[in-house]
This record gives sequence, C-alpha cells and structure tokens, in this order.
Amino acid sequence: MSSGPNEKSEMATSSRSRVPAGHEVLERICEEILRRERFLLTSHARPDGDSIGSQLAMAYALDALGKQVRLVNADAAPDHYREFPGLDRIEITAQSEVPADALIVMECSDLTRTGVAGLDHHYIINIDHHAGNRMYGALNWFDESAAACGEMVFDLIRALGVPLSREIATHIYLAILTDTGSFHHSNITPRTFDICRQTVEAGVNPAAMARSVFDSNSFGKLKLIGALLNSMELTDRGRLAVLAIDDDMLTSCGCTHNDTEGVINLPLTAREIQAVVFFKAVASGEVRVSMRSKYDVDVRLVASEHGGGGHKNAAGFTVPGPLAEVRPRIIARLVAAIAAGARTDDGD
Ligand code: AMP
Ligand code: MN
Repeated sequence: MSSGPNEKSEMATSSRSRVPAGHEVLERICEEILRRERFLLTSHARPDGDSIGSQLAMAYALDALGKQVRLVNADAAPDHYREFPGLDRIEITAQSEVPADALIVMECSDLTRTGVAGLDHHYIINIDHHAGNRMYGALNWFDESAAACGEMVFDLIRALGVPLSREIATHIYLAILTDTGSFHHSNITPRTFDICRQTVEAGVNPAAMARSVFDSNSFGKLKLIGALLNSMELTDRGRLAVLAIDDDMLTSCGCTHNDTEGVINLPLTAREIQAVVFFKAVASGEVRVSMRSKYDVDVRLVASEHGGGGHKNAAGFTVPGPLAEVRPRIIARLVAAIAAGARTDDGD
C-alpha cells in the first residue's frame, strides 16, 4: 500500500468527523483502532466470501493506517478465493497465540464460530450482521440490516478515513456479491448498491469478479453438482429439496467438502422449491446441516433451535449423528417452517 506518513496522520486525525452523527459504536471503534498498534483479525470457520472479504478489506485498511496486522482462520478459503489479493496472509490455525492490542472478529455471532482457540483474553471488537449475536466483545457493533458484514467494514474503513484502494474495494465487493447470493437475497438495500458503485469506481470489474467467484468450477465440481442434483429428493409437494453428500460421491468426482460450496443454492432456481436442506456427514460423526429458503420461510429459526444460526434465508448448524436419525426430524421441522412462511404468489 502506498501511504506516506503525512497521509497516515491526516487519516487518523480526520476520522472523527467522518463518523456519521449519532453512531457512537462506530466512533468508539475508530478511536480504539487509532490508538492501538497490533491487530489480529479473524472470522468464522469454513470461511465464505463475506468472511474473507471483510477480513482482508479490514487488513488492507489497517495497513494503510500503518498498523501491524495478522490474520488467523480455522480453515483455508475455498480454492476459487485463493487468487484474491492477500489470501496468503491468512494463517490457518486451530489455536492462536498471536499477541495483539485488539482482536477484530467479523461475521461471528459467537466467539466459538471462529473455530480458533485462545482468543478469549484479547480486547475484542465484534462486527457482525447475524441475528442473535452474543455481544461477546469489549465493543460490539451489530447491524442485522447489513446485507453483508462487508457493508459494515466499508463504513468503518470510510469512518477511519482510509481511501478505497483497489484491494479494499475488491474485498468489499466480494463480500457483498457472495453474501447477497449474487444480488438475490431480500436484505439488499440502496446502500448495498451505493457501496458497490463506489467499489466499481475504485477499479472493481464486476464481470471479472463474477467469473472468478462463480465461473471457476473444476470439472470434478460439475460432476459433483450432477451427482448431487441427481440424488436430490423432493418432498412437501415439491416445496422442499433435500440434498445429501457422502464420501463415495466426493471420491468418485475427485472432490473435497470445499467443492460443495454454493451447490445448495441451485435447487432454489426451480420455481416451486421454497427451501433446500443439505446434509453433510463429517469425519467427527457429526452432521452439518445447511439450509436456504425463499420468501418468509425462516430457516434461521430452525438453525437456532439446534444451536446454530445464520439469516432468515440462509442458515446452518451442526448436530451429533447419525444422519439417518437426524434427517427425518429436520425434514419434518422444515416442512412446518415452509407451512408458516411459504408464499404461493409469484409477485415477490
Ligand atoms: P452455510 O449453510 O454454512 O453456508 O451457512 C449459512 C449461514 O448460516 C451463514 O450465514 C453462516 O454463518 C450461518 N451458520 C452456519 N452454520 C452455523 C452455526 N453452526 N452457527 C451459527 N451460524 C451458522
Ligand atoms: Mn455474512
């Protein structure tokens, strides 16, 4: 990053005036960031575009302020994010001993969502948009109305007075593009497009971004999509789609669990389907359950009943197996959720 000392001090002193009036938490976060030097950034296990984008946009902004920055995550990013700037800066670890004056946790409703042990003792700044955030930080900024955590990080970076470099803009756009389901979800607001406009003005190429994120499947992944859709079950008069993956399917397609990312969204492209559930039996013997929905079908409620979380239209949780026992129970619960929230009109 090219920011000379004068630019740094100008950014630092001007930050207060850039915070929107009445936004005390944001103002406090700016103050605490500006007076600290060493930062540790993290986000949730099995990272997605919003967690990666939020973390790296924040990292580049802190670089611009002349701060020391380290990033830790429990898991590596899916392959198609690896070529985005700064991915190699993220250290993958289950246990962190990184010294820091502040830990910034993004996208995590609970500190355990990081999957990284040893973080509790830090001065924590919690920035998140998931309903049910546990407010585990010394400073907690929670905004359920944000379409992506990246929208909040954008506001913070602006409030800090950091210019929108191409790297920052790229990661903010990545966060929004992925967390809105490529501009599908109901949480999109004028602010979403206003932020995207600014990132495009800063050099983001939306077509290239879409290609990188959505058009970079391996042949193995295409085969896996075919196998998963082929074995998909429809229930509740075609309103609920059920996907399940086993290790044989992965092996025969030459894929890993990472390659299942995004597949869950495909059944929703069928008009009748109102919700999708995807069961993954993982090595520990547990079952990971991912859910997506349309309209007012609230899958977050189902996730929160099982110790998980997420958003109304995208949520998940992990429960003890075996899959054969979990599956009918969750399907019955989702049928009830569809009955409570489904719409039959096409107008929305
Ligand atoms: P996924 O199905 O893993 O893509 O997750 C969908 C949404 O639910 C994301 O916003 C996740 O952060 C959230 N989510 C998934 N699993 C959990 C969990 N165990 N606890 C809290 N939130 C979760
Ligand atoms: Mn998010």
